[in-house]
Amino acid sequence: MSSLTSSPVVNKLVVIGIGLIGGSLATGLKKRGACNEVIGIARSEQTCVDAVNLKVVDRAYTSLKTIAAELTAGDVIFISVPTLSVKAVLQEIRGSVSADVTITDGASVKGNVQVAAEEIYGAVPAQFVLGHPIAGSEKSGVTAANPNLYENHRCILTPLETTGAAHLDLITRMWQAVGAEVLTMTVEDHDEVLGATSHLPHAIAYSLVDTLAHDIDNPNIFRYAAGGFRDFTRIASSDPIMWHDIMRANKTGVLHALDLFIANLTRLRTSIETEDSQYMLNVFTRAKNVRDEFTANLATQNVAKKD
Ligand code: NAP
Repeated sequence: MSSLTSSPVVNKLVVIGIGLIGGSLATGLKKRGACNEVIGIARSEQTCVDAVNLKVVDRAYTSLKTIAAELTAGDVIFISVPTLSVKAVLQEIRGSVSADVTITDGASVKGNVQVAAEEIYGAVPAQFVLGHPIAGSEKSGVTAANPNLYENHRCILTPLETTGAAHLDLITRMWQAVGAEVLTMTVEDHDEVLGATSHLPHAIAYSLVDTLAHDIDNPNIFRYAAGGFRDFTRIASSDPIMWHDIMRANKTGVLHALDLFIANLTRLRTSIETEDSQYMLNVFTRAKNVRDEFTANLATQNVAKKD
């Protein structure tokens, strides 16, 4: 675990959307002494009560307006609601929060968040640092908050020309304080890469399970499924609204990745139909080598980070 920080990185952390991603940042910073106070903002009174009882936040409200005036430089607002809801949150922030407060988000698509901020502010304000932690799980809600979620994971920030250096520095140190490695890339690269490595696999997993459940006429279909099926389809247990929003928000990136995949799957189908063993062996061998290398690299990186 990353060590306790000597002085808090963040003064007040305001988490808007106290679920897995927001709750994990809140508990991660609190556990490491890296923020002075966490304030939660949720849609329902019940989430506020749960978040306080679970000690995910110190206090919670159903409206940002209740606490907006007390926020100042050194405070951070973390927007961790489903991707397509970020715009409405930004709208509320714009009307009530000082330009000194640092704002960031954890939404899985960055292009639509940039556009939303431009529509609301005219240009993305210096105080808003767009980000995306590359950590998570198929669990959701405040009860899924995990203080170690970001340990040894990456967090991508996508700063723009307008992004203020001090705000970027604060958000970088905030993610580092919970054990994340911070990388920067452009919004476009982020959405293209994540479209291929995260959004495409989720589309495939959902579609695969749905195909087996509804289109294969055998009531025993899942009875004989084993560990391989469970591993491959774990991500189909993820929250449907969250993934609906991601597919809509990254339409171009996801369609590009899906088109490539469908073309390759069709080629594989043809090779099975025509008994083209060479084609199949080439694909399977190439894929096995790449997957083996990927998991070996991941293991080495994790060992290096623990040393
Ligand atoms: P989550 O556990 O469902 O938490 C989201 C929270 O936002 C919920 O607890 C919900 O709280 C609140 N919320 C839902 N709809 C809202 C709306 N329309 N307006 C305001 N608040 C709303 O989801 P999550 O996994 O933390 O995801 C949060 C964000 O992080 C998403 O943008 C997601 O794309 C991104 N992300 C997720 C992962 C992952 O693996 N899960 C990884 C990286 C990034 P109430 O219903 O109590 O209000």
